[in-house]
Amino acid sequence: MEQELSNIGIIGGGPAGSACAYFINQMNPDLKVSVIDTNPMRTILPTGGGRCNLGFAEFNFKDLAKNYPRGEKFLYSVFSKFSTADTVDLFSELGIETYIQEDMRIFPTSNSSQEVRDKFLKRLYAKNRVIKENALRIERLDNGFRVITDMGSYDFDKLVVATGGHSGYDMIKRLGVEIVPLVPSLVGLVTKENFASIKGVALKDVYNKETGMTGDMLFTHFGVSGPLIYKISSVFARKDMPYSLTFDLCQGLEDLQGIMNDNPHKYIKNLLSEYLPHSLVEFILNQTSINADTKAHMINGKMRDGILDKIHNFTVSVKSTKKDGETVTAGGVDLNKVNSKTMEYRDIPNLYFIGEILDIDGFCGGFNLQNCWSTAYVCAKGITAD
Ligand SMILES: Cc1cc2nc3c(=O)[nH]c(=O)nc-3n(C[C@H](O)[C@H](O)[C@H](O)COP(=O)(O)OP(=O)(O)OC[C@H]3O[C@@H](n4cnc5c(N)ncnc54)[C@H](O)[C@@H]3O)c2cc1C
Repeated sequence: MEQELSNIGIIGGGPAGSACAYFINQMNPDLKVSVIDTNPMRTILPTGGGRCNLGFAEFNFKDLAKNYPRGEKFLYSVFSKFSTADTVDLFSELGIETYIQEDMRIFPTSNSSQEVRDKFLKRLYAKNRVIKENALRIERLDNGFRVITDMGSYDFDKLVVATGGHSGYDMIKRLGVEIVPLVPSLVGLVTKENFASIKGVALKDVYNKETGMTGDMLFTHFGVSGPLIYKISSVFARKDMPYSLTFDLCQGLEDLQGIMNDNPHKYIKNLLSEYLPHSLVEFILNQTSINADTKAHMINGKMRDGILDKIHNFTVSVKSTKKDGETVTAGGVDLNKVNSKTMEYRDIPNLYFIGEILDIDGFCGGFNLQNCWSTAYVCAKGITAD
């Protein structure tokens, strides 16, 4: 008697779910795959500011994994099977040309996340049943799962859950799936200090003392933001608030005394403005109670040290987070319970998790989508290997 082929359900047709359907189709075209999602691949549209930063040009998988504050070790195994070069090949197979930007981030040559969406959807609809409904509940059957949606119910032998970092958790908690508590990552930081007078000021190559990281930073009406801050928010996603951060705002400014000696009749505000934006200079001088119109020769040693301390040890007190960037969720399905060779949940056979629903999150730079492509591939391999 011929063995009946598995009937596979995927809840969530975002980057992870759609890629998983694609890989299963490639690996075994006879398998029946249903994707449940009211609006598949909608979430790809805002990525990379609409350009879709789909990966990062680090081709050594262990070094790639270092960019994930949560998930590094788990991803060694996953990335050893599907990593950056495979992502570039995947996009090429889909008919999407890619390029590597100067900062090593990878984008489609069209710079269009709409193109990425369109090409994935074309495959998705051509090869799979797409159920445009919202999954509400999952029930375990003797030999599989029943998914109850807002419009019907569907039985599957194997079920992949790819509902992302913002929903779906209640549904899987009821199955007994263990979830590491969720907190936002890659976000702006709300500070006790009020930076309204310098909002919009952007600085390059700022050094953060607590993390040892350097990057660009922005003052905002709520606190601080920009690439360096997103990275810090990721590393400190679980740190108790309030906490302090200390920045060197201008690593290039060392010998202020020498500069003042060479320009004794210049105003201190004009000398400093050669190194820092004017409004920030005014802010710093105000903080140190020094009149901005003081001439350099009137600045004594104590005043000079006060200015340098403010610039090189600029301290902010972080009281909360603000979702303003490529916000992703830290926390999710506990990796100790997931087999990294198949993405199957260890305690519930034939149940799989991929993408951001897992307790995996990376920095900005294409790492979070790479997690989706890679876990989707490993899951498809696991499913089709049976
Ligand atoms: C503004 C922004 C920009 C970003 N830019 C980048 C970037 O350039 N590069 C990068 O690597 N990462 C980026 N990210 C992160 C990246 O988009 C996510 O990590 C990624 O989309 C996660 O994919 P996923 O498939 O796991 O989940 P999602 O993308 O969240 O997809 C989940 C899917 O499941 C569906 N769904 C949810 N619940 C249900 C349910 N109950 N029933 C049916 N369907 C359901 C949703 O409709 C959705 O389609 C960005 C994030 C944001 C917010």
